Amino acid sequence: MAHQDNIDRLNTELDRRKDDLIALTQDLIRIPTLNPPGENYRLICEYLRDRLAPRYFQCELIRAHDTPGDCEKYPRWNIVARREGARSGECVHFNSHTDIVELGQDWTRDPFGGELDGDKIYGRGACDMKGGLAASIIAAEAFVDTFPDFSGAVEISGTADEETGGFGGVAYLAEKGYFAPARVQHVIIPEPLGLDSICLGHRGAWWAEIETKGRIAHGSMPFLGDCAVRHMGAVLNEMETELYPALAQKRTDMPVIPKGARQSTMNINSFHGGQNEPEAGFTGLPSPCVPDSARMVIDRRFLIEENIDDVQKEITDVLEKVKSEREGFAYKIREIQRIIPTMTAKDAPVVTSVASAIQNVLGKPAEYVVSPGSYDQKHIDRIGQLKNCIAYGPGILELAHQPDEYVEVSAMLDSAKIMGQSLIDLLVEKAA
Ligand SMILES: [Zn+2]
Repeated sequence: MAHQDNIDRLNTELDRRKDDLIALTQDLIRIPTLNPPGENYRLICEYLRDRLAPRYFQCELIRAHDTPGDCEKYPRWNIVARREGARSGECVHFNSHTDIVELGQDWTRDPFGGELDGDKIYGRGACDMKGGLAASIIAAEAFVDTFPDFSGAVEISGTADEETGGFGGVAYLAEKGYFAPARVQHVIIPEPLGLDSICLGHRGAWWAEIETKGRIAHGSMPFLGDCAVRHMGAVLNEMETELYPALAQKRTDMPVIPKGARQSTMNINSFHGGQNEPEAGFTGLPSPCVPDSARMVIDRRFLIEENIDDVQKEITDVLEKVKSEREGFAYKIREIQRIIPTMTAKDAPVVTSVASAIQNVLGKPAEYVVSPGSYDQKHIDRIGQLKNCIAYGPGILELAHQPDEYVEVSAMLDSAKIMGQSLIDLLVEKAA
């Protein structure tokens, strides 16, 4: 039973480090890395370097120059820490984003206090995802200390800007080759998807701005102009009666959670027509004008069974149909971003490894899930061309971005045992 013996040694070591795990999580929460604007990235990277460098991780701090939001006041810093094993082999990489979202209202705890109350540590980012970062660090440290003869390498990265698209974080690193298949073979992203759940990937997204055109005229004589908002109303009507019912019919075999997202969806992120809203404090009346432009941003989430060209065509078909029915109808469409859906195979090595660790630690089989929205896996998949990637980490997804966000110490410790066990599997036992 060498296998169980290895696991027991690691678990004993992790249990011993529980206070360290708590203190590390609290320290990370106490560095306010709000994004936007992207504060204190350098500080949190230095903190991680000061922790990992004395433990023989080679640490690189990498600024994502000229990416969205990067400037002298808010530089986009990332850290990649790599600990080489005793011999060559594969590399397991843990990637966590260091940024957190705005606080919002209704906090009853100090959002940057890292307060420990029973089994819970409170603070913005506790769940999404400083708790996951802390758990992966403790797992990696306990592993390298307990199995110094391991093969390959363990990497930990802390990256910027996940909450705003990841361009100054994982996308930048992927472009620089940090996720190239020659360097990294397995990636675990400790996002809060639930202790027993392996997230295989995410749906796709296509964002576009649609503009309808009109002609300005005096509002008392609208027949002399052409109202862009009425044209857009016709587009919305076509979407309500034809497109939305059609989207609801497109179901997926992807195990998306929540279940309501196991179909194609489309949100209208914004809608604007006519003159701009007056500035706050302006007390005058609006002027009477026929709107010559209306704009709408759509957020279409699509399935692995769909392809992006069809998704786009579906929207242009709506616009062309309206055009054929309405005199004077003219539109423009501009793509804002596209994210291709991704789903790692259930028999990929990182998946089977984490699944058997979940069974071992929790005594139940792993759940396989897919995220309704995307996260940094999109860049690892598309730019890095690395398919052996999952999200797995502690924390309750529903708490992300909420007031009084917390992470449970017991969940972090269990997830650290699971991450550590898959390191044993991939870098010790399979490598032997
Ligand atoms: Zn996150």
